[in-house]
Amino acid sequence: MSSEKKTAAETPEPAQPVRRNFIREIIEDDLKTNRFEGRVHTRFPPEPNGYLHIGHAKSICLNFGMAKDYKGLCNLRFDDTNPSKEEQEYVDSIEQDVRWLGFDWENRLFYASDYFDQLHDYAVQLITKGKAYVCDLNADQVREHRGTLTQPGKDSPYRNRPVEENLDLFRRMREGEFPDGTRTLRAKIDMASPNLNLRDPVMYRILRATHHRTGDKWCIYPMYDWAHGQSDSLEQITHSICTLEFEDHRPLYDWFVEQLGIYHPRQIEFARLNLTYTVMSKRKLLQLVEEKHVTGWDDPRMPTISGLRRRGYTPESLRMFADRIGVSKSESTVDVATLEDCLRDDLNKRAARVMAVLNPVKLVIENYPDDVVEELEAVNNPEDPSKGSRKVPFSKVLYIEQDDFRENPPKKYFRLSPGNEVRLRYAYIIKCVGVVKDEKTGEIVELRCTYDPDTKSGSPQSARKVKGTIHWVSANHALDAEVRLYDRLFRVENPEGDNWKGLMNPEAFKLLPHCKLEPTLAIAKKQDRFQFERLGYFCVDDDSAPGRLVFNRTVTLRDTWAKIEKS
Ligand code: ATP
Ligand code: MG
Repeated sequence: MSSEKKTAAETPEPAQPVRRNFIREIIEDDLKTNRFEGRVHTRFPPEPNGYLHIGHAKSICLNFGMAKDYKGLCNLRFDDTNPSKEEQEYVDSIEQDVRWLGFDWENRLFYASDYFDQLHDYAVQLITKGKAYVCDLNADQVREHRGTLTQPGKDSPYRNRPVEENLDLFRRMREGEFPDGTRTLRAKIDMASPNLNLRDPVMYRILRATHHRTGDKWCIYPMYDWAHGQSDSLEQITHSICTLEFEDHRPLYDWFVEQLGIYHPRQIEFARLNLTYTVMSKRKLLQLVEEKHVTGWDDPRMPTISGLRRRGYTPESLRMFADRIGVSKSESTVDVATLEDCLRDDLNKRAARVMAVLNPVKLVIENYPDDVVEELEAVNNPEDPSKGSRKVPFSKVLYIEQDDFRENPPKKYFRLSPGNEVRLRYAYIIKCVGVVKDEKTGEIVELRCTYDPDTKSGSPQSARKVKGTIHWVSANHALDAEVRLYDRLFRVENPEGDNWKGLMNPEAFKLLPHCKLEPTLAIAKKQDRFQFERLGYFCVDDDSAPGRLVFNRTVTLRDTWAKIEKS
């Protein structure tokens, strides 16, 4: 690809109409000017020190998405430079999450720790060039010498050590001669730079810790800032996309690759995702898990990808969300309702409708024969006629929602009440003729009704209209289930400050142990998602087992009544 003309013609067009953003513009410019020989090669570089969250999903969709749209490649690279916080469990969960989101790194799975030897050689090169030195200050002293935003730093007394002495000391650091924290290798840049990142940053520290991949081979570990840019360079990354806080680190990354004379990726920063009613820092999420405020990283209330998956989110809805919020250079907080809307839009098209009663009360149809079971036709998805219909059994004894009956109905209550008529979805119009109560507690235990046989749904005579339609299940055929209702993890939009854990929403989890589901759900598998008519979207939880059905509420419906009336 030598001539400009040829490259321009080969510039791949994104497959579908896409939202413009400044990152696309940069990439397309680079393709036009042939900056990277027409290549687009990105990477997603998580540190395996926790589970991924929805913010990471944005970064994954961006990095893998750009690569896909411009017929490039995207690597998965674990930035595993900090052995004390990193674990294999996190590595495994991250791989699972990226795959689940629908992306594939093919054979390009890398670890910063793969480059420890190379990074060490690079460090020796910088020492040899007089661009790095071994410093005997401890961490506190290094900090004291660094200065502040308004005051320049002070040179370390070890800054001007001869190259030979530095090489010797660095070798001995590596060989384990010195205790942890007693020496560092530092880049020799400028202690007076207005950019604190350039004030002789530490490249290596002495740390005796077992690394999840290199074991005890090393007792010196590279700092993230030293490893990150060189890892991108070694992988020939073209566009190194990261969040805004790394903007000030870019001059340092540039300095390293320039001093080493190696391949130079282009770094692009974008604003990280913040979401209302949740926290997104890995440190805070880890606290919630460790202090058991949640049941684990995959608790359905968590903003982690594994939590969202368990909650019933689809990969499609998360990709739709990433696309809808776009990327920008300015910090903002996205309303969690936007995320929920993406999920509804996706599930509305795809989730089968079923009837489920979460807070059941028994209803007996007095004039319906004891021994008859009718199989009634029910539409699987009004949004998608190709999904057809199913048969739902109807009989004399049913369950309906406690909420769908009021002994003393307020005005405009169109559901069931004494003497009032209501339509049973896909079935008949019924009328309430009596209420049976527990003698001691006064609690309603049974509703007595009659039905009008001429009003069967779909029959020619069914034209008679009543104002309300409610769902039901046949008592003899119903499946028992446990349903877990989930809501937002925090009570306030921005749970910040020292008391952030005190702002958790105690209503975010509610257990309904005695729910009744229509029998078609007997074949539901883990992760299957359904719309429980009028109630919301629900998915089969991982805790389900033969003989035990557990559902999670994924998200509520927006406008339940309008929908029922129309269909
Ligand atoms: P840490 O504090 O541990 O560094 P982190 O959230 O930055 O946490 P990383 O594992 O370093 O975690 O992140 C991997 C990638 O995901 C990085 O490129 C980072 O920029 C991106 N990322 C992290 N959080 C967000 C977010 N909220 N929005 C968008 N991208 C994010
Ligand atoms: Mg990070």
